[in-house]
Amino acid sequence: MLGLMQDRPLLISSILDHAARNHGGAKIVSARPDGTLTRHTWPQVAARAAQLAHALTARGVRQGERIATLAWNEHRHLEVYYGVSSMGAVMHTVNPRLFPDQIAYILKDAADTHLFVDPTLLKGAEALADRLPETLRTIVVMGTEAEIPADCPLRGRFEVLAQESLIAGQPEQFDWPELDERSASSLCYTSGTTGEPKGVLYSHRSTVLHGLAVLQKDVFNIGAEDVVMPVVPMFHVNAWGIPYAAGMAGASLVLPGPRLDPASLHRLFEEEGVTFSAGVPTIWTALLQWLRADPARRFARPPKLVVGGTALPAPINAGFLKEYGVHIRHAWGMTETSPLGTANTRKPENAEWDEDRFLDYARKQGRPLFGIELRVRDAEGKPVPQDGVAFGELEVRGPWVAGQYFNRPGDPAFTADGWFRTGDVVTVDALGCIEIVDRAKDVIKSGGEWISSITLENLILGHPAVAQAAVIGIHHSKWDERPLLLVVPKPGTSPTAEDILGYYEGRVAKWWVPDRVEFVDSLPLTATGKLWKADLKHKYKDRSLG
Ligand code: AMP
Repeated sequence: MLGLMQDRPLLISSILDHAARNHGGAKIVSARPDGTLTRHTWPQVAARAAQLAHALTARGVRQGERIATLAWNEHRHLEVYYGVSSMGAVMHTVNPRLFPDQIAYILKDAADTHLFVDPTLLKGAEALADRLPETLRTIVVMGTEAEIPADCPLRGRFEVLAQESLIAGQPEQFDWPELDERSASSLCYTSGTTGEPKGVLYSHRSTVLHGLAVLQKDVFNIGAEDVVMPVVPMFHVNAWGIPYAAGMAGASLVLPGPRLDPASLHRLFEEEGVTFSAGVPTIWTALLQWLRADPARRFARPPKLVVGGTALPAPINAGFLKEYGVHIRHAWGMTETSPLGTANTRKPENAEWDEDRFLDYARKQGRPLFGIELRVRDAEGKPVPQDGVAFGELEVRGPWVAGQYFNRPGDPAFTADGWFRTGDVVTVDALGCIEIVDRAKDVIKSGGEWISSITLENLILGHPAVAQAAVIGIHHSKWDERPLLLVVPKPGTSPTAEDILGYYEGRVAKWWVPDRVEFVDSLPLTATGKLWKADLKHKYKDRSLG
């Protein structure tokens, strides 16, 4: 027997309609590169998104067609987000920090027809001109005509126009189509740290369900009174769903533009009364250092922060809470999981823990949101015990988890029984909380046992002379692989190998201690600021440790 409830589809257009109809009092603040601010409201965002959809429809853009953006967090990007998806086309955000070859690859793979480019990124697009795909017809500069240089070399090959001229004179209402909620809404590529970037094609349904899920008290905890500032870029997994979640809640949005330095962010926190923000550890680490440099730097009203993307160093969390009263919540996710999969908040079982004990626990990535199921299996495919010690590869499934990649059927990341293999190696504890110990491809396979490279890296960062560290597996004739430690020493120190390796004594099992340490000037980072182990491994691929 079927239920007798109305079968209304879950659509991105309904988020926009809802915000415009019911939350006209919220503000949408957008920072320009020079620090000046523009102000809009949800009804204005809706009107401009409708104008954009009319303009694209008039130019023949069809449902399912991919429309790319190379842009920061600002209001025109938000309008493209809502306008493109609501009309049934696919919003394809591209990370401008990727290497040019990767950007060219991604645009070609997606077969985009339009590319929206922030004026500050136009030079980058020009450098790519010869490699832009044949499907691309139009380049829209996200500003006014005055922001397009007269000699823009893209002009010869493409139609180049400004977003303001594109939408000018178009009607401010659009009769949004009633799409199948499983229709594609947006496309985002993985950062490609392990090879070619892979496209994850979100649907209206997955986006709406993810948006509802992140609003929860134990996840982002956002309501209509919140002023939400996504520092995480809108080109990185839809800014963790914040543009949609804010619309659902009717919250205000502060879009910080390209300037993410601590002083610019702090000014927005204070002047705009930001109550919630989300970003990667590098952002919060830099902000903490900047705050500490001057005792006058405080928060009038400490915001709630969420961190994810890479593990949060415990001293950062402790520093924010103890010195500034700012709570940071740790969350985990991936491009393939929309991205939120887990978040770490208190439960009845640990409600009584004192602050220090919970701060230590907050290094873990958290427990699953409702809708996300986890399973952790060891190298032989057996489930690992929930003891917080044994580890295995994390697999997930749920309504906002990818079922396959765009243009790549049959990828082995998807199991025959419907799970996605994350490539993250984790422990799970009795409270259902996961802790990432490594990426599957980075664990060091020594004599059939696994050594966590991340554990070795985090430990050695406690050594007073170590600024940065990386551990990679190097070929070994007897053990298959053994760990090699690479260390960037702190300025003014010159530690010895014995001194560094001796630090592991008593802290890890003897067979975990790296066979060798080498001192280097720097370590390679990916476009998303993560340690680029693939590059390191490539560099050391012909080495052997015995
Ligand atoms: P991306 O798809 O670029 O967002 O990268 C996803 C990967 O980032 C995950 O598979 C993890 O390896 C890593 N990651 C995400 N969140 C965290 C976190 N809170 N702690 C540690 N690693 C994380």
